[in-house]
Amino acid sequence: MNELLRKIPKVDELLRSPALAPAIAQYGDRAVTEAIRAELEDLRREILSGQADAVPEELCAQIAHRALRDSLPSFRSVINGTGIILHTNLGRACLSEQAAQAVYEAARSYSNLEYDLQTGKRGSRYSHVEALLCRLTGAEGALVVNNNAAAVLLVLSALTQGGQVIVSRGELVEIGGSFRIPEIMESCGAQLKEVGATNKTHLSDYERAIGEGTRALMKVHTSNYRIIGFSETPALSELVALGHRHGLPVLEDLGSGSLLDLKQFGIHDEPTVQESVRAGVDVVSFSGDKLLGGPQAGIILGKKKYMDILKKHPLNRAMRVDKMTLAALEATLRSYDAGAADQIPVAAMLAAKPEALREKAECLAKLLAQAGVHCGIQPTEGRVGGGSVPNRSLPSYAVAFGGDVNALEEKLRSGVMPIVGRIHEGKYLLDVRTLMEKDFDTIADAVREALA
Ligand SMILES: *Cc1c(COP(=O)(O)O)cnc(C)c1O
Repeated sequence: MNELLRKIPKVDELLRSPALAPAIAQYGDRAVTEAIRAELEDLRREILSGQADAVPEELCAQIAHRALRDSLPSFRSVINGTGIILHTNLGRACLSEQAAQAVYEAARSYSNLEYDLQTGKRGSRYSHVEALLCRLTGAEGALVVNNNAAAVLLVLSALTQGGQVIVSRGELVEIGGSFRIPEIMESCGAQLKEVGATNKTHLSDYERAIGEGTRALMKVHTSNYRIIGFSETPALSELVALGHRHGLPVLEDLGSGSLLDLKQFGIHDEPTVQESVRAGVDVVSFSGDKLLGGPQAGIILGKKKYMDILKKHPLNRAMRVDKMTLAALEATLRSYDAGAADQIPVAAMLAAKPEALREKAECLAKLLAQAGVHCGIQPTEGRVGGGSVPNRSLPSYAVAFGGDVNALEEKLRSGVMPIVGRIHEGKYLLDVRTLMEKDFDTIADAVREALA
């Protein structure tokens, strides 16, 4: 063992070796030195534990590979083969080309973010999207903050502080990360008044609970779960009529906030933003990066009277969105406005028909075959994800690999371009609904290498 340990090359020796010259040219002395130290440390440990009985011939290649991997940014692109469109851990919605381009331009130049080009005076950052949002939804006013959690916080803080808010017991949602409606309400200085039962809440339950201290009625879309069976809640328009009879605003946390009617994609119980506005809700908020398919943002729409209060509230300033978000959001909304929602990846992925997905899978399988990799094609079930549409799976197709699927999964996940798939019933699956055709060559190369 000592003899073997003595055979481990010295750091200086390796640094001078021609095999590492290209790596040094690309990543620099310091990075390659660190990679050498780390690889030698691993090798020493393997020798001491009896896992290695020689200095590997490919030591320099391993060092160069480590230097490459260490040079990659921590936060980077991955290929999503899970079939989950709004995968929160994978960054939810991918932006459209138009939105990505708008972010790029906003990032690298000055802009009229808060500058009115007509008057030469100070402008409002929200003006770039407010008119668009109002036109698309029929709302009187609009405001955008960092995410929908912030939007809910702002709405409750500004409009209900010190008073009571009436919410159905069936809608006391936790969205994850300890963001729960009851706790949020408390932190906003409002008192939650729960009414009804878990499965049924009647209009009369809300009506009976209205009292001196009531500041608002609130509706929360149960976006990440459904109560089915013997269940009932009043229609939004009935709630609005009740609130207005008592001079109270009706607030809604819509969660996902789709502008498209998802019935055309076979999803029947996801409300649209337009429906909420039409029902007369006073303030409604939703996410920018869920079903809307835009950047992370919290979009608030509502009656002018309430929007004016929200716009002036100090929390609004603390939650304000940056220029890149606004650029992406305006471009995304313009696609909807132009009737070109198919430019938005989330909408296109939702719309993809099983037949087209099978063809997409066949196309990928053919590329894989050309790379010398054999795979199967099998039907699979994807999801919308992001805490949206919990009760509906999306029929799709996947390319399927057998063999040591755990090793394959690990190799693909830890590659230079990480690929995230899933293991199901002993097969490694890449669901093509969330794969992009531009990545097919990369996928074929990565799988070939992983199996080699
Ligand atoms: C997702 C969701 C939120 C939070 O939205 P973010 O944009 O993720 O902050 C709030 N309420 C409901 C009902 C949701 O589904």
